[in-house]
Amino acid sequence: MTGAVYVNGAWHDRATASISVYDHGLLYGDGVFEGLRAYDGRIFRLARHVERLYDSAKSINLAIPHTQEEFAALMVEAVGRSGLRDAYLRPVVTRGVGDLGLDSRKCPTATVIIIVDTIAVWSADRYEQGLDVVTAATPVPHREALSPRVKSLNYLAHVMAKLEGSLAGADEVLMLDPAGYVAEGSGQNLFVVRGGRLRTPPVWAGILQGVTRDAVIELAREAGFPAEESPLNRHDVYTADEAFLTGTASELAPIRRYDGRLIGAGRAGPITRDLHARFHALVRAE
Ligand code: PMP
Repeated sequence: MTGAVYVNGAWHDRATASISVYDHGLLYGDGVFEGLRAYDGRIFRLARHVERLYDSAKSINLAIPHTQEEFAALMVEAVGRSGLRDAYLRPVVTRGVGDLGLDSRKCPTATVIIIVDTIAVWSADRYEQGLDVVTAATPVPHREALSPRVKSLNYLAHVMAKLEGSLAGADEVLMLDPAGYVAEGSGQNLFVVRGGRLRTPPVWAGILQGVTRDAVIELAREAGFPAEESPLNRHDVYTADEAFLTGTASELAPIRRYDGRLIGAGRAGPITRDLHARFHALVRAE
């Protein structure tokens, strides 16, 4: 059996790993998480993901009982134990075990979990043909209510949005922010291309600052495609030459159709393909 699960200092497999039903991660969604990928045994942008995990924890005033270096080393060990060379990692840190009230002071010790497994968000043909995407009715939470910059265990808005997409027969959704700008996918950031220039929503507006997004901005600029962060309307997506989603689990996925409108030629466009190839080279090279 491949895969590995770390829970509070002990190693398990998928069948034996468990946590308490009094854990506030379960009772209240009180915790944070990350998603990383290992390519050929090496974790892509490990330090950046660990930094974002600790920023998320800081934002909710949660103390992680390891240094960032220790946490990174645990993830490297987890990949080694999993027997997987290409893997998906899911570290989760919760407030820990408390009572049935929501007072976090009654949770003395954080619960630390690292899961190593594999993941496939869509079938392989979607990366060629492109995704059918619709606007979700559920917006991302207001940035001062539950900051989308915190990768917290409160993912219900994103789960609902994804469900709305599935019920509509779509592959994925775009969620708007409370002001009506296009924010992000259920677990991806958005890019549009028009006239050879890339645009993606700014982080301050209330989206997760994707590690893949940042890598794609770097790759685009290296390749000579201007890339700017600016608020986007649905109109900007409808009228784009190309549009694509980025995420650790999703990697780079072209959008074929958005709210019924064909995007560009209705398949992965040349800049999307170019950046996809550059991204694949980067994750194996870094
Ligand atoms: N937005 C949301 C809501 C996400 O859950 C994710 C996945 N972590 C992303 C964007 C993409 O971020 P990354 O590229 O770091 O995986």
